[in-house]
Amino acid sequence: MKLIKILHMYADMLDLYGDSGNMEVIKYRCKMREIECVVDTYSIDSDMPDFSSYDLIYIGGGADLEQQHISEDLSKCREGIKKAYENGTFLFLICGGYQLMGKYYRDADGNEIKGLGLFDYYTVAPESRRMRCIGNIAVRTKITGKNVDVVGFENHGGQTHDVKTPFGEVRYGNGNCSKSQQEGYFEKNVIATYLHGPMLSKNPEISDYIISYCLNRNSSETIRLKKLDDSLEIKCRQVMLDRLLK
Ligand code: GLN
Repeated sequence: MKLIKILHMYADMLDLYGDSGNMEVIKYRCKMREIECVVDTYSIDSDMPDFSSYDLIYIGGGADLEQQHISEDLSKCREGIKKAYENGTFLFLICGGYQLMGKYYRDADGNEIKGLGLFDYYTVAPESRRMRCIGNIAVRTKITGKNVDVVGFENHGGQTHDVKTPFGEVRYGNGNCSKSQQEGYFEKNVIATYLHGPMLSKNPEISDYIISYCLNRNSSETIRLKKLDDSLEIKCRQVMLDRLLK
């Protein structure tokens, strides 16, 4: 049986708008295809895991306070996560998790949380707490080789700068910065995004991109995913896209 091993980090602290639901979606879509999916959790004071033994490392989003709480512990994991990423482990990062893989996150009070510095971007929140990017968002991504319009919900003060390879182009909403054209960060084995939702429940193509990457990364022949019936998800998303884009 095929197997995907996932490490879900700080599920007890970084779970804004049900971000943990993303793991439920991955598990469900694997189960429907008879792919075994093991999800281990890691949080503050857990034993240090072997990060490189995982196909996917997942971190959700959270408020500034939670980000501060986990930052010291996260910094201890830096070498392990970096090595895993360099060995091809997939990193899926939502909002607060996205910010903390960059150089730093400076919150509205000027407190700076050091990021792991895996990527060159950095994030700064404006001094005014009223200036947040909040609301539904539609993003066009080409990561699957086709245009896919994904939807989600964003709520962040942080403005992320210096993103060289975004996840997609903003069609409605804000994205990396207030009224920006770019959303998230992307590499073959990294999706970092401001989209909550949970985002995978609304955008099946992105789930399958991740599952397919994880299954194939160490496989000599390409394993194709069995198609699932996503008609309801696609219909729901279209309602939102019609509302936002027309
Ligand atoms: N606290 C961060 C910000 O406001 C991240 C928020 C989030 O994860 N939604 O920018």
